[in-house]
Amino acid sequence: MLEIRIEKTTKPKQKPENSAKLPFGSIFTDHMFVMNYDEGKGWHDARIIPYQNLSLEPSAMVFHYGQEMFEGLKAYKTDDGRTLLFRPQKNIERANNSNARLCIPQIPPEIFLDALKAVVKMDEDWIPTAEGTSLYIRPFVIATEPHLGVKASSSYLFIIILSPSGAYYANGFNPVKIWIEDDYVRAVRGGIGESKTGGNYVASLKAQEKAHDGGYNQVLWLDGVERKYIEEVGAMNIFFKINGTVITPQLNGSILPGVTRSSVVDLCKSWGYPTEERKISIDEVFEAFQKGQLEEVWGTGTAAVISPVDQLKWKDHLMPVNPGKIGPLSQKLYDTITGIQLGKIEDTFHWTLE
Ligand code: PMP
Repeated sequence: MLEIRIEKTTKPKQKPENSAKLPFGSIFTDHMFVMNYDEGKGWHDARIIPYQNLSLEPSAMVFHYGQEMFEGLKAYKTDDGRTLLFRPQKNIERANNSNARLCIPQIPPEIFLDALKAVVKMDEDWIPTAEGTSLYIRPFVIATEPHLGVKASSSYLFIIILSPSGAYYANGFNPVKIWIEDDYVRAVRGGIGESKTGGNYVASLKAQEKAHDGGYNQVLWLDGVERKYIEEVGAMNIFFKINGTVITPQLNGSILPGVTRSSVVDLCKSWGYPTEERKISIDEVFEAFQKGQLEEVWGTGTAAVISPVDQLKWKDHLMPVNPGKIGPLSQKLYDTITGIQLGKIEDTFHWTLE
């Protein structure tokens, strides 16, 4: 068990009054977990302290070279009062894969899990229970060495903050409109696309603005070499149901390996759908649409769980998929995953952790 020093807040904040109207990611709980890393000492001084500002030198390397990793997962409160985490081991594994790519020291998985459980336990009264709400958990590591010059930092902070959150998209579990970007790219193989790090998200902003200006909610990225193969959406992986078969781009080094993606693949297979993880080109999707075989499209991610897509825009082509409606498989996946997360459906895959 990780030894954690605890300093409780003396000024508890007012909790949100109407949990049905929670925004996403802008309210934070009373406490946070913090742990330092220093060369020679390793990870040390694990503590839970009141949520507060950080004090860093302006020369801290994260500000200049972007050496940082983050994760995102959720905690839920069940009707019988238990607190459940959804597949936290997958996030921990992905965090350490990101760390390895970004030259950040590994965080021992058992220490990471103890820290998650302890900070969520400390602020469990903040877990909202209204439909579609949860406690969003944001673990992250930043490079803190005060130094100008590109190299891996010799010191880091590992922090976990918590945010009671509502639906990620303002329209909740409702169809989203997707813009297929064929100019800007998000990531290339050999780069950092499969790591969860700020650089990938800043690279996405320009196209995201372009999509918003055009009336679209999210960007769908094509591969960075040929602009031909489908990669993923802004903060989601993407699935297509074409003529009865469920298809999602295979993990190729430039796509983030989503925890929800992996859960959806497992569920679709268990329900007997032919399910393929493979390269899929935008031409194949467009052809399926033209033949009337593009049955459903949905995004998968921790924040929104399942996001049905009702329109894809690629160059001059508009592809309405189930306009204004939610496809039956998208609905079933959403109901099943959220049911498991809330302890309402039997967790046969052992995905939740108390
Ligand atoms: N792709 C990107 C780029 C993301 O930011 C996310 C959100 N973490 C996902 C996919 C979905 O991953 P997950 O299901 O683990 O949330």
